[in-house]
Amino acid sequence: MGFDIGIDLGTTNSLCAVFRDGQPELIPNVHGSVLTPSVVGVLDDGSMLVGLPAKELRVTHPAQCAWCFKRWMGTNRKIRLGGRDYSAPELSSLILKSLKDDAEAFLKEAVTEAVITVPAYFNDHQRKATKLAAELAGLKVRRIINEPTAAALTYGFHEREAVKKLMVIDLGGGTFDVTLMEIFEGGLEIISTAGESHLGGEDFTNRLVATVLKQLGKEYETAELKTPLLVARLHEECERAKRQLLDAPQSRIRIPNDDGEINEKAVSVLVTREAFAKASKALVDRLKGPIGKVLRDGQVDPTEIDDLILVGGATRMPVVVDFVREFLSAEPLAKFNPDEVVALGAAVQAALISDNAAVSDMVMTDVCPFTLGVELAKEFGNYLEPGYFAPIIHRNTTIPVSKEQIFSTVATNQLEVTINVYQGEARKVKDNLKLGELSVKGIPPGPAGQPFLVRFTYDINGLLEVEACIPETGRKFQTVLTNHAADLTPKEIAAALEKMRKLKFYPRDDVKNKQLVLFCDRVVGEISPHLRESLEGAIDAFERAMSSGDREMFEVARSGLLIVLSSLGIEYESPEAEADQDDNELS
Ligand code: ADP
Ligand code: MG
Repeated sequence: MGFDIGIDLGTTNSLCAVFRDGQPELIPNVHGSVLTPSVVGVLDDGSMLVGLPAKELRVTHPAQCAWCFKRWMGTNRKIRLGGRDYSAPELSSLILKSLKDDAEAFLKEAVTEAVITVPAYFNDHQRKATKLAAELAGLKVRRIINEPTAAALTYGFHEREAVKKLMVIDLGGGTFDVTLMEIFEGGLEIISTAGESHLGGEDFTNRLVATVLKQLGKEYETAELKTPLLVARLHEECERAKRQLLDAPQSRIRIPNDDGEINEKAVSVLVTREAFAKASKALVDRLKGPIGKVLRDGQVDPTEIDDLILVGGATRMPVVVDFVREFLSAEPLAKFNPDEVVALGAAVQAALISDNAAVSDMVMTDVCPFTLGVELAKEFGNYLEPGYFAPIIHRNTTIPVSKEQIFSTVATNQLEVTINVYQGEARKVKDNLKLGELSVKGIPPGPAGQPFLVRFTYDINGLLEVEACIPETGRKFQTVLTNHAADLTPKEIAAALEKMRKLKFYPRDDVKNKQLVLFCDRVVGEISPHLRESLEGAIDAFERAMSSGDREMFEVARSGLLIVLSSLGIEYESPEAEADQDDNELS
């Protein structure tokens, strides 16, 4: 029997956890960190880098990297990288494959299946795209679960005895989810959920970048086109400043030159916490909508919330914490690490599916986060107007759920109907998201009003199946989704698998060293010219030693390089050291 694996496939960072010895445990990657940046890069020789080294490469070579591609899941958008086009599921599959490799190295056993989390607000297309990504990575999806639900499972796992109402607020790199739930003696029931799939910490960083560029008299879009290296480096600076503002009242942002280099002549601007709060006010305000919606849908008053759990790196920002505290008059629970709680919960879910004895007293029910229905033509006097939305499954219905509704033909001898399937809350379909269509043929001739039945089944993975049936003949029809990016034919899947298989990866054994080289490459541009030579010499020696295969020479060159770095007053942040530190913090 395989291991119970849970994966948090994030916009910014991805994590993998395993449930063993009665509890969920995070799996470190080859760099010793449990966070794998969701970044893919390609080196000049065509070899691919995934995670930390790709994030490093992004700073100096943004054109050779792809990131935030989770935002394009479920769309037809192609992302260009190293002279080739990739879909979001293809790039995501590289992240999943990297996590799979790390898990196999850690567990010393093949990993073939996993529970994968998605934002609650992910629609059908996005969920199918996630499934496809897993398939391309050689992983079978045991279940797709919502990220806040996973967070709640971690909470529920540790608070088995509690009887409480909780709210999970998850603000990650690119998505925002709020979920209201109730736990009672091991039972966990999701009451309502809401969110936005285009709001996250990245937007706060981008806002800061835009503010700084504006001070320099530049527009974001134009600057990104004209000076992409400057913007990429400035992004990195703003990201650092954003994090610094956690503990410090102000932070300095150094302005790179057009080549994206920050040398000792670089000017800098000062951002204060207040200035950052002002720049991000419009983003913070957008948190209100979904929070209000879950409370209304769940018919829960903020005073009834016992515990407030903040999930996702962006909830570390004081502007977010202050807002939540004030808006809900509640103090967030500091017990869980906001980065880790989702992956851990995914592993708990995997254990639940395996009937692991350690979780035998836990049960969980989830809900469908949005309304699903079909297009309907309404009769006004003697004319029919199409374009109206007829809900079949209402949002926040407990899942799995199967509902049917009878519709009827609108014309005499109408032998065929096209059922347009939509998701959303608007009254008219044009304001909702079209999921697909289903063509029903062979309706018996007769006057208008011939009945046909439409059945919607929303499963525990959050995937929708639509079925129609003509009662008179008993004939059944199933959805043929159109314009569905993730709905590939078996032939297309085989081609995508082949494309992924052909990719050359940077050798796993060497990837930690490559990370160090990439870090140094960046530093070279930042130090004063007269110090540059010694660093360059040490990097060259290290690179030569890496390819020599001589262990002793390699060790000498590596420590030589680290010594040069520290003599320049530059600290190389080894993720392994960070991981150790995290452990200390937790204990
Ligand atoms: P995702 O689940 O979407 O991958 P994460 O939960 O990893 O996202 O959160 C990533 C976001 O959190 C990024 O936008 C990052 O800038 C932000 N973030 C992480 N740590 C901090 C911090 N200390 N201060 C401010 N923002 C942070
Ligand atoms: Mg997340």
